[in-house]
Amino acid sequence: MELIVVGAGPGDPELITLKAINALKRADAILYDNLANKVLLDYKKEGCELVYVGKTPYQKYNSQEEIHALIKEYADKCEVVVRLKGGDPFVFGRGMEEIMFAKSYGMKTSYIPGITSMLAIGLSDIPLTHRGISEGFWVITGTKKDGSLSRDIELALQSKTTLVIYMGMKNLPFIVEEAIKYGKPNTPAAVIQNASLPNMKMAKGTIVELEALSKEHGITHPAIIVIGDVVNLEGI
Ligand code: SAH
Repeated sequence: MELIVVGAGPGDPELITLKAINALKRADAILYDNLANKVLLDYKKEGCELVYVGKTPYQKYNSQEEIHALIKEYADKCEVVVRLKGGDPFVFGRGMEEIMFAKSYGMKTSYIPGITSMLAIGLSDIPLTHRGISEGFWVITGTKKDGSLSRDIELALQSKTTLVIYMGMKNLPFIVEEAIKYGKPNTPAAVIQNASLPNMKMAKGTIVELEALSKEHGITHPAIIVIGDVVNLEGI
């Protein structure tokens, strides 16, 4: 019994690795969640069991414990279990928790990286770094375990680098408030939903405009917030 934790990429089914596809083809069971594109399940071999462990953010979903129980259940009866996760499993994906759980049961484990969703904002001509404009990027969650804002957002806002926020839509008003507090109301910012997919939506403007623009464009989860001068390169 083996658990392979696999990154599905940001959404576009072509943005998955060859290694991931080969793992999907070998799997006796695939445990997948919301953000992984369902089209990828077509790589399954005959007889492979598909198990939806749907995690819908901010709502009641299978708890991590329930997912662990499913991993154990399928590992007991299958040779190869693939855990398919949106983006990269180790970027806000709890992939390591599942690997640690599997190891505690003596399972063999492996990890296949995926293209994390923030890289797909490049498809809208927003790079994370750009010579002379941004020397780096901070990647922070917009919702901590207890629902509050990470203090690292405050620190990042005081730097000149690009700030990328995952899972930030619920706290968007507070993120905007912080950005204004740290003197950055007019910094370019964007919110991108369903990056890399045909139903992609984007709102682009300055920090102070971000909430209104997001509403106007009907942007909801899953979206990435990006703050910094790189957002505006197109206009330069
Ligand atoms: N492991 C995933 C992240 C899971 S956390 C990854 O590497 O991408 C869930 C968050 O990911 C969402 O709240 C959103 O911020 C982001 N996200 C995932 N897919 C996205 C997409 N296609 N477009 C925009 N944001 C996305």
